[in-house]
Amino acid sequence: MSISLQRIDPETRKLLGGATCLDFANSVDWASDGAERPPHTDVLNAPEHLAAWGRRLGTVAPGTTLLVTGRELAAARMLRRAIHSLFAAIATGTPPDADMLARLVRDHQEATAAAHLAAPDGHWQLDWPADDPRRVRFAAAASAIDLLRDQARLARVRMCPGNNCGWLFLDTSGRRHWCSMEVCGSRAKMRRLYQRQRRSPTAPSTSPAARRAQKQRPEAR
Ligand SMILES: [Zn+2]
Repeated sequence: MSISLQRIDPETRKLLGGATCLDFANSVDWASDGAERPPHTDVLNAPEHLAAWGRRLGTVAPGTTLLVTGRELAAARMLRRAIHSLFAAIATGTPPDADMLARLVRDHQEATAAAHLAAPDGHWQLDWPADDPRRVRFAAAASAIDLLRDQARLARVRMCPGNNCGWLFLDTSGRRHWCSMEVCGSRAKMRRLYQRQRRSPTAPSTSPAARRAQKQRPEAR
């Protein structure tokens, strides 16, 4: 969840997902009904942002220029919606939407058709020409299919319960509840303190614990 109206920067957006496809979905905040939150929570508001986001995710080499069109940005945003919908469903134990699955399959087919195999770090994977403007979307689709096929990692997919957050992440420790303790965990703590005070009319207007929580403002992301 973002906590100010300052526009999100692709260069500084936190990467908390643990998988490329989940970080790709976390480029915007999500309402509890699965709708995207307003543009001030969105990394992908203009075609050039997609290239910057790709560099941040490590799917575009530093210094590489991608000529991204508005059409490619729209395709990337549609895939983002599909990835979020599918993994949110898996995280909450509900059936994935068939249209969203079909969207992912179409993007993955396009990615596979345009790909070559490369092993830059000894690990073979699909790759695309360095300046292909579709490579961010292709890498997200390939990552999503990889995650769907990986039973062990798939069982670790979680969705943050923070208000208007909806970020997805891999719970590798088995104890992770929030996307970030410093953001959603901190806001939930403040909300609980506030509600406790409202329910207790005899309590002082501001308890020491509430004052401490107010000082610890959650981090921006
Ligand atoms: Zn969160």
